[in-house]
Amino acid sequence: MSDVWYQCDRCTACCKWPGDVRVESYEIENIAKFLGMETQAFIDDFTRLRMNRDGLSLTEKDNHECIMLDGQDCRINSVKPKQCRGFPNKWNFPGWQQVCNAKAIPIKKASELGLIK
Ligand code: SF4
Ligand code: SF4
Repeated sequence: MSDVWYQCDRCTACCKWPGDVRVESYEIENIAKFLGMETQAFIDDFTRLRMNRDGLSLTEKDNHECIMLDGQDCRINSVKPKQCRGFPNKWNFPGWQQVCNAKAIPIKKASELGLIK
């Protein structure tokens, strides 16, 4: 593991990028329950097939931001998909630091703050 942890500053940029917000089968029931919805109603109202057709994605608004983004907040923050939870520490891409405001902090401090999950 790297000796730094990138702490999200909740700029919401990654919630506004066009593309899939992958939601895995095991996550769907939890998110539906969190929203007080039946699982099938959540699937019908808030998901679509991914671009590569290998599963479901959350839907997006007309401006491409994620349907769960509410101002600066994620409506499902405590149960958000692994894809959201993992960026940029578990996965990222070349040049990600140009488009993400997460700040590097020592891994020990991140651990003490309970940021590493
Ligand atoms: S782009 Fe980076 S700093 Fe902004 S919300 Fe996403 S992870 Fe956090
Ligand atoms: S589920 Fe939440 S964290 Fe993930 S893209 Fe949507 S608004 Fe952002």
